[in-house]
Amino acid sequence: MTTSSATGKREVSQDTSGYAVSLKNLNKSFGNVIAVENLNLDIPHGEFFSMLGPSGSGKTTVLRIIAGFETATDGQVILEGTDVTELAPFDRDVNTVFQDYALFPHMTIQQNVEYGLRARKIPKIERAKLASEAIESVKLTHLADRLPHQLSGGQRQRIALARALVLRPKVLLLDEPLGALDKQLREEMQVELKRIQREAGITFIFVTHDQEEAMRMSDRIAVFNAGKIEQIGAPREVYESPSSAFVASFLGVSNLISGASAKSLFGSEEMFNIRPERIKLSDEKSQLASGEHGVIATITDVAYTGANTLYVLESESGLRLIATRLNEELPGQDIRLESGDRVLASFRKEHVAKIPNHK
Ligand code: ATP
Repeated sequence: MTTSSATGKREVSQDTSGYAVSLKNLNKSFGNVIAVENLNLDIPHGEFFSMLGPSGSGKTTVLRIIAGFETATDGQVILEGTDVTELAPFDRDVNTVFQDYALFPHMTIQQNVEYGLRARKIPKIERAKLASEAIESVKLTHLADRLPHQLSGGQRQRIALARALVLRPKVLLLDEPLGALDKQLREEMQVELKRIQREAGITFIFVTHDQEEAMRMSDRIAVFNAGKIEQIGAPREVYESPSSAFVASFLGVSNLISGASAKSLFGSEEMFNIRPERIKLSDEKSQLASGEHGVIATITDVAYTGANTLYVLESESGLRLIATRLNEELPGQDIRLESGDRVLASFRKEHVAKIPNHK
């Protein structure tokens, strides 16, 4: 139920007020392109929530609709129990951090961070104090008097974050904020972002197409595909128990098995998935332990990837599997394996995930 109030904001029924953000039956089309299709989503307070998916799957459009930069074709955006669907971006208690930083080049770091407070008519002394605290929270106090071009990419990104945090939004929207950073800096910033989010207690909604990044940082992940959410869950849940072949393949390497191979291994032609690190490789004469499935296969390719070695395997019936092993001697796994070797590839029953949404 929706009722109007004197502020022009519309209060909505109780069941959404416990959430920082709720999206109800959201649709967005650009001409005949359906960017978002009948999306429903509830994000609790203080959650680090990621929207993950391939290019064009609708993540940025959803973020822009929450921010108010884009208008939904249909549906509702509810922030803290209040329907803000019709409100302008500056009337919503959210801030956005973009990939391109958007800092003012002629202002110092301190002035950049103070800018939003000045626009809100916060007195000068208070403004300086709050900005200094925000700069401190991203650990850049020593650079407060510099101009943006005198900072590195990672430092600029942190300032963009400080500028958003200083306004104490209830919700912070982050659109691929680490996309422009090199791998090492990106990984450092992932840890920093998570720390800042926890300390500030702000709900983060984070858009990325990098599955490792999403898994590393998020409380929950929504996996997008063609304008719809295929699955929402904690990182472990979406990785270990994917709801569809799309989710299984998008989150890391998968071994999807269906049809005759599944029938002979698991007694059903439905689709199953096994992660490569769950497959144990042992001498072909080894016996299966109780609670294990297994198949004799030949190694057709071996690739060294640093921490792991990756093996491509093929069984006599044509089942192809990818297995990985850590590059350290593990008890029971200390056989040296090469292309052409025949092995027993085995895995425990509890590590076989049935794919429920298999068409
Ligand atoms: P990326 O990771 O590449 O940013 P995304 O998952 O964020 O992708 P969106 O940017 O939300 O995807 O786009 C979803 C779909 O809507 C795409 O097909 C895109 O081409 C289309 N789209 C987005 N914005 C517009 C627009 N302003 N006009 C027309 N089509 C658009």
